[in-house]
Order: sequence, then C-alpha cells, then structure tokens
Amino acid sequence: MVEGLRAAVAAGRLPRSLILLGPRGAGKYTLALMLTMALECERQPRELVEGRELAGFCGECSNCTRIAEGAELEAKVEEAVAAREEMRETDKKDTRVLVQTHPDVLIVPPDPPQLLIKLGQIRTMIGRAQTLPSEGPAKVFLLTSAAMMKEAANSLLKLLEEPPPYVHIMLMAENLGELLPTIKSRCAVAHLGALPVEEIVALLAERRPELKKTERELTARLSEGAAGRAMGFNLAEYAAGRADALVLLKNAESTGDHTTLFKMTETYRAGAEGQTKTTALLRALSSVLEDMLLLQAGAGERIRNVDKLTELQRFADSFSFEWIEGAVRSMDAVQSGMRRNLLRSLSLDALAVELEGARP
Ligand SMILES: [Zn+2]
Repeated sequence: MVEGLRAAVAAGRLPRSLILLGPRGAGKYTLALMLTMALECERQPRELVEGRELAGFCGECSNCTRIAEGAELEAKVEEAVAAREEMRETDKKDTRVLVQTHPDVLIVPPDPPQLLIKLGQIRTMIGRAQTLPSEGPAKVFLLTSAAMMKEAANSLLKLLEEPPPYVHIMLMAENLGELLPTIKSRCAVAHLGALPVEEIVALLAERRPELKKTERELTARLSEGAAGRAMGFNLAEYAAGRADALVLLKNAESTGDHTTLFKMTETYRAGAEGQTKTTALLRALSSVLEDMLLLQAGAGERIRNVDKLTELQRFADSFSFEWIEGAVRSMDAVQSGMRRNLLRSLSLDALAVELEGARP
C-alpha cells in the first residue's frame, strides 16, 4: 500500500483527497507526514523498485525537517491549547487549535475539550487553500481525526468538491462510518491493515528490548496489529486492569463471598485517577470477553490474552454466549455512567451485581 502511494507521488498522481484508514496506532499520521515530505522535499529522491519509480524524501532539507517537527503532535497540540488558554475570553472563543511547522502544511487536530474538528478550523483551512504554496510545490492539509462537527463536515465538503490544483487533503479515520457518504465518495481510501503478530514481536524485540519474550508476545497480541500502539503499550497498567476484570468474572462465576470484589472496587475512587483506572479495567474486560467468545467458537489460536488461557477457557466453559453478550451491554452502561460522572466505585459495584445476577 505504501509503495502504491509512493509510486503515485512520483508520478504526480497522488489523489488530492485521501482518507488514511486504520485502527488507532496503525501509523496513519506517520504515513501522512511521510507522504507530505515526499510531496514537498526539495531534493525529490526517487527509488526504483521492480521497475516502478517510488518517491521518497531526504529528511534533511528545510522542507523535510520542518514537516518532521509535526511528528510531536501531542506536544504541539498541547502548546496550541496552552496558548489559547492565555488569551482573553473573547478571543479564546474564536481561536481554534491548529498546528503548523511549515508554511505550506497545516495540521488540523480535533479541537478540545470536545475533541471534534470544528467549523472554525475548516474555515481557516479553506482560507489557506486559496493562496499558492510558498516554499514547496503543494499545500497540504492533514486532518488527524474524522470526528467532525456537522457544519465542519459540510464546509469541508465544499473544499473537496473543487480543491485548487496544488492542494492535498489527507484525512485520518479509524472507520469509514465516521464520515459523511458525500465526503467518502470524493476521497480515495488507503487502508492500513493490521500487521501480523510475528512482525510486531520482531519490531518490539528491536525497539523495546526491556520486554521479556512472553511480554513481547502478549503486547503484540494486545495491540491488535497496530505498531504504534505496541510501541507505547503499557503492559503493567493493562495487567492491573485485567486482574480486576478477572476478579469481576470470578465473582460472577461463584456466588457467596464478595470480600475480594469489594476490596477491589474500593480501590476505584472518583476523580481523574479513578477514571483512568476504570477505563483500563473496562478495556481489559472487553478484551477478555472477546477472547471468551473466540474460545467458545473454537478459535483459541486467535485470543489475545494468551498468558491467561487456562483461566479464560474455564470462563468460556462456564458462561453462556448470552451471558457474555449481556456483560458487554452492562459495560456500556458503566461507560455512560462515567460520562455522567457518577462515583466510579458505585458504577463498578453495579456492574458486578449485574454480572452476578445475569448468571444463568
Ligand atoms: Zn527533503
């Protein structure tokens, strides 16, 4: 897929509007920056692979280096948000978060706190699209999320209908369902699929040598084929959340003594820390429930929590398919409870009670 895009850049045929589609951590943004460098590089290096000319970038020229600064996206967004916080209230309202490390490349992240791309951001983008690029051959707009306010999406549509010839728009999306059909129909889609477990394991061996062999295997499976996610995966945090998720399941499996359960839910308090912890627990629980379904379906080789096979097999045997479905619905309820900002421990207890009551 990457070679196809590089060949398109070399031939001057990269689609003007491109959706980079793939799960979180699949490398959408990294690829978008590389394509941008390939478009803007002063040296325009070319590589011949199997008779095809592929575009590359030097990584050293003033265009490449400035674009590469955009790689620190989180830090740049934080800077922009902090700058907005400093403003007078009246100006704050009209200021949208944008990242720009090169005059011809505008990075549009979802605007906090709602984390949606807003109309003001798209308007700025449209304004900038009207002027010719000043230092490279193209003007590139990178939208790092497909979550958009409705007016923003409608406004973007107008630009996609008639983009100036030097404009490239790359839109990063986790699933196509997030986008208006009218937007999708005007864009080419490049799909970043999941990498096989072995490839992620090999990458981890190289980049995170501190991990043990079993930890690499587990991290690779839990990051679901997304290299970026594997690189930053916090195994200790996941394992803590999963241990508690297993307590919930054990509690649901056998009635009677709830001491362990209460000891566990007590450690979940209100506030930001409790929220992070609850999120980790729910994420782990959902991954465990999916594994139980795989085991029930006889597809044990695909489970992610490989180190807990024996325990998960026991759960898979003792809980019915319907029960697992019900558990997933109860989890959704906890999540919406969290959004309404209920006390963390209360909603976890409620989940435990529900899981227990639903047992066939
Ligand atoms: Zn360069």
